Amino acid sequence: MALVVQKYGGSSVADAERIKAVAQRIVATRKAGNDVVVVVSAMGDTTDDLIDKAKQVSPLPPGRELDMLLTAGERISMALLAMAISNLGHEARSFTGSQAGVITDGAHGKAKIIDVTPGRIQDALTEGSICIVAGFQGVSQGTKDITTLGRGGSDTTAVALAAALDADVCEIYTDVDGVFTADPRIVPAAQRIPRISYEEMLEMAASGAKILHLRCVEYARRYNMPIHVRSSFSTKEGTWVVDSSEIEGHEMEQAIISGVAHDRSEAKITVVGVPDKVGEAASIFSALSEAEINIDMIVQNVSAASTGRTDISFTLPVTDGQAALTSLNKLKDRIGFESLRFDDRIGKVSLIGAGMRSHPGVTAKFFGAIADAGVNIEMISTSEIRISVVVAQDDVDTAVAEAHRAFDLDSEQIEAVVYGGTGR
Ligand code: ADP
Ligand code: ASP
Ligand code: MG
Repeated sequence: MALVVQKYGGSSVADAERIKAVAQRIVATRKAGNDVVVVVSAMGDTTDDLIDKAKQVSPLPPGRELDMLLTAGERISMALLAMAISNLGHEARSFTGSQAGVITDGAHGKAKIIDVTPGRIQDALTEGSICIVAGFQGVSQGTKDITTLGRGGSDTTAVALAAALDADVCEIYTDVDGVFTADPRIVPAAQRIPRISYEEMLEMAASGAKILHLRCVEYARRYNMPIHVRSSFSTKEGTWVVDSSEIEGHEMEQAIISGVAHDRSEAKITVVGVPDKVGEAASIFSALSEAEINIDMIVQNVSAASTGRTDISFTLPVTDGQAALTSLNKLKDRIGFESLRFDDRIGKVSLIGAGMRSHPGVTAKFFGAIADAGVNIEMISTSEIRISVVVAQDDVDTAVAEAHRAFDLDSEQIEAVVYGGTGR
């Protein structure tokens, strides 16, 4: 008997019909002789709708209350799914994140899981129940308040529970047939990747491929938990995210490039006219770190000889933009910079592939493709297996499509199907 953790995303449980279809799938897994723990997301675009509602009553809702509101979305789907399963004659019990033992730090809206104590889940499994757990939420160890893990966080709930329960596999069910070489909503010719290593998947997720939440992949790698990404709308094979040692030799020839990812969720701040002297960058970035803001790319221009001043630009999640501007403005006199510029019309396009390490010329080809698309590059950053560029947001789709084509990733026959979801 195996223990299977399954996670169903928002579009997989968007309405009553979908919830009943998912219930069938869960019951089939149970009937095949497995113990089943299911993690659910909020129905359809519920989370976005709840955020819109919050904004109608307050432009900057307190984090504690926003989390209280958003966790309601997952609670609706968990109870409905448990009812649908029980209607099929199987025992199912739903649990909130807190009841399932998901303990987090106190950072509302982006809490990190610090411990998972799934005693109640284990007991319910022993008693023969199917367990349904609300994704994306936990309880703060310090304040005992309800927290959320950040957008897309139900994936992380699933892998964290799978690791804590020592499950055999964590299946992530979504609205596409696995991980593709690019977002099928932008590149219809994208190809399904049958197996991908944790490290490449990490770079894809960190570069904005929202098919998997970044921390879920980090967790899976740490605990060596295989992730099986599949569609809840089909029975196709999907994608396995596994250790790289399980890939070598599997594919006859490892692809140099595994995919192109994009991200429209970042903004760019430019600190204009920073005096070019020791310690200025340190002051700027310590202020941002104290405000718990994660910085992505950073570019510092060469200072103009005539003024002895330079510009420093960096990217950050657009949702942290206001907080960053506020904390930098407090430093204006101390640092003596001239002004701040904020641009939320940017996008990031990234090329990912472990084969980059040993193949020269990849960067030149990537920049060539971006140029052929007529797109201007604003910023550049690289890791060992990734190259990212910041471009104007309206140019993202063209840049992704052109890079995908340039690296021969377009498939001859269209196999990518988007079954549901609004892409919101
Ligand atoms: P869920 O609600 O099931 O969690 P998400 O919307 O969070 O689903 O993630 C699935 C979506 O991720 C797909 O519909 C697709 O548009 C997007 N996506 C982005 N990059 C990729 C990729 N490389 N492969 C597959 N899907 C991708
Ligand atoms: N419902 C949450 C969101 O929309 C969490 C998730 O779906 O993973 O971000
Ligand atoms: Mg998701």
